[in-house]
Amino acid sequence: AVEIQNLRDRKRAKEHEIKDSTLPEIAIVGRSNVGKSTMLNTLTESPNTARVSSKPGLTRQLNFYRCGDKFAVVDMPGYGFAFAKEEDKVAWKELVCSAFCSSISQFGFWDRVNKKSLLIIIFFAHRLVQIEDYLGTRKSLRRIYVMIDARHGLKVADKEFLTMMGATCSKKFQVVLTKCDLVSPPDLARTYMVVQEELKKSFKNAMTDRILMVSSYTGAGMNTLRKDMLSACKQ
Ligand code: GDP
Repeated sequence: AVEIQNLRDRKRAKEHEIKDSTLPEIAIVGRSNVGKSTMLNTLTESPNTARVSSKPGLTRQLNFYRCGDKFAVVDMPGYGFAFAKEEDKVAWKELVCSAFCSSISQFGFWDRVNKKSLLIIIFFAHRLVQIEDYLGTRKSLRRIYVMIDARHGLKVADKEFLTMMGATCSKKFQVVLTKCDLVSPPDLARTYMVVQEELKKSFKNAMTDRILMVSSYTGAGMNTLRKDMLSACKQ
């Protein structure tokens, strides 16, 4: 009970605290709109600390929260948009490259280019770099929690993200099924089995002994998740 109390002291960490922090960290990641912000608020029982949105993609930067003196939670950007198909990524790179070339070779480039598309491309490219950099280099990172919507199971964007993560980072990840209140028990059991099989087959860093299941609305599974995070940080 004392340990869980610590989670409730969540404070957003300042820039220099993040850089110098030696606290163990856990990262929370998931597709936009999977219920990550709501879960963070329920987990820490402090409403409105993480922004909750009905529109996908509101949490955009890495947000660090110190949870007492035990560990820090890193809230990562939703990846539904950042992790496009391979051919789209190539298209982004080509577009950024050709836009840059035009801008230096032709005066008046800004009058012709579709500025909005260009800004969106640069924005997503930046997010991609930020996430890969953090996952690949952060020493204090103990475990990654990947949120998956219990209604849908692993979607293409999830698999792409997990593949990228496997290539970038050697850390274990734990899958958490969210919004379980919206799924009947038999459907939830089916999704659990399917996801577990897919993880075993394709993702060597996945923790496949068990998949956690939560509902931020009913609070189901939240205590188990809190305890799991604390034990990850003790390892
Ligand atoms: P994020 O983009 O992953 O941070 O998602 P949000 O936390 O902003 O949630 C997206 C939407 O899902 C909001 O409308 C939430 O109210 C809803 N939601 C989040 N968690 C749950 C849950 O456990 N059950 C149900 N039924 N809805 C949820």
